[in-house]
Amino acid sequence: MNREIICINCPLGCRLEVTIEEGKVAKVTGNTCGKGVEYAQTECLNPTRTVTTTVSIKNTLYALLPVRTSKPIPKDLVTKCVQYLRRIEVKAPVRTGEIIVENILGTEADIIATKNLEAL
Ligand code: SF4
Repeated sequence: MNREIICINCPLGCRLEVTIEEGKVAKVTGNTCGKGVEYAQTECLNPTRTVTTTVSIKNTLYALLPVRTSKPIPKDLVTKCVQYLRRIEVKAPVRTGEIIVENILGTEADIIATKNLEAL
């Protein structure tokens, strides 16, 4: 099976042609550097994404706190992760890097704040 994907590791955005045989990446072409091969392997066999979204916050000037996962999580859990975070409400003050949810959905990634928000 062949797949065509675009490497998103850098702005060059190389168009990769990936050959998958017996559940393994057998060949990658179109990459300018070795990171493209690594990306093709992850994207075709175990795709992951860093989730960036917001959660509700009270006791501050803003209604939403920007957050992200501490590391990429499996791509097929992204929607479930965002749905879970829609139900979360935190209370200010919050510091950048503070853990909002530990081990989200058993992925070993935490949800961390990406902004300081002071209490009223
Ligand atoms: S293969 Fe290398 S040069 Fe091409 S987009 Fe990926 S990281 Fe950038």
